[in-house]
Amino acid sequence: MAELAISGLTKRFGKVTAIQNMDLTIADREFLVLLGPSGAGKTTTLRCVAGVEKPDAGDIRFDGQVVSGVSPAERDVAFVFQTYALYPRKTAFQNIAFPLEARRLAPAEIERMVREVARKLRIEHLLERRPAQLSGGEQQRVALGRAMVRKPRAFLMDEPLTNLDFKLRVEMRSELKRIHFDLNTTLLYVTNDQTEAMSLADRIAVLHNGVLQQVDVPETIYERPVNRFVAAFVGNPRMNFLECGLRADGGPQLVATDGSWSLPIPGELWERANRAIGDGRLILGVRPEDIALATEPTPGAIPGSIYVIEPLGDRTIIDLAIGGTQIRVRVPPTSTDTIGAQLWCRFDTQRIHLFHPETGQRV
Ligand code: ATP
Repeated sequence: MAELAISGLTKRFGKVTAIQNMDLTIADREFLVLLGPSGAGKTTTLRCVAGVEKPDAGDIRFDGQVVSGVSPAERDVAFVFQTYALYPRKTAFQNIAFPLEARRLAPAEIERMVREVARKLRIEHLLERRPAQLSGGEQQRVALGRAMVRKPRAFLMDEPLTNLDFKLRVEMRSELKRIHFDLNTTLLYVTNDQTEAMSLADRIAVLHNGVLQQVDVPETIYERPVNRFVAAFVGNPRMNFLECGLRADGGPQLVATDGSWSLPIPGELWERANRAIGDGRLILGVRPEDIALATEPTPGAIPGSIYVIEPLGDRTIIDLAIGGTQIRVRVPPTSTDTIGAQLWCRFDTQRIHLFHPETGQRV
């Protein structure tokens, strides 16, 4: 068990700054997910924490102790990779037992510990097989077992589910959550999959171009993204963005840049936006589930025509052309709309987001 504290961490590779002045504390027993697109600096962060990469600046502390001079082995953290990195000639049992043998524990003790971990991971019946005789999901369980058996102070996981097919990935996702609950250990987990992050994390840290964007519980990341990047990265289908400006005559409202729609908004939101941009432009963000559709016009509703319809079983996604742009709307699966039909959409003004057009910051 450990608190991991990263402060002022910077890592460069030649001209590339992989991590820039990162401050991030992972509480003891927390499941923290580092989320970001490819190249954001996620793996580099993990490698610095593990001690296999040397930072250019900053400190990493385990329970308050700086670990700069501490070797990766002595840091006592377990690293689980996307590729399972199992020994191909060893059986699952031997793979899991390996870190214990290195510690020269008695064979009976090793046997007891391996079986205990195998039971937790439900792979007891696979222990005599070699990696080639195991499925991807089973190999990943063995790799997890090898990490768990050491009872490390913390786990570092780098996209451990990426190589699994979709169904297994979803299954292993819940397993991992349960495993974390059972282990009760600090877990720093890297992924570029926002669904994975939302479903696993106690808190999510969103990373972009080596810079931390927002660190918070999943609900807040989703409900109150601090900038346009976070807003677009989290959520599927992603948030819709529309360019607009402010108008005061006829009540506080947003008006599309191309004049094709207007939207009355609460006065307090209008004031805030006005302070941020004056008579400049704004980006309106609205999630697909925060838009209601109607077949008849109502005051404040925006007209649009259906471009395409995607039924997904539990819900339907409608692409709607409004003015010169297209937005995606999530509706119940019972929708009977057809391509080309005219509809009116209503944005839930309590749930819209406004972003600065240049900085992308939330207004
Ligand atoms: P991915 O999801 O693709 O693994 P990531 O978020 O883990 O991406 P990193 O692997 O940490 O990103 O890389 C961050 C940046 O640092 C990238 O621009 C990458 O090209 C660069 N980088 C990483 N390792 C090295 C290295 N050993 N030498 C040079 N550049 C590197």
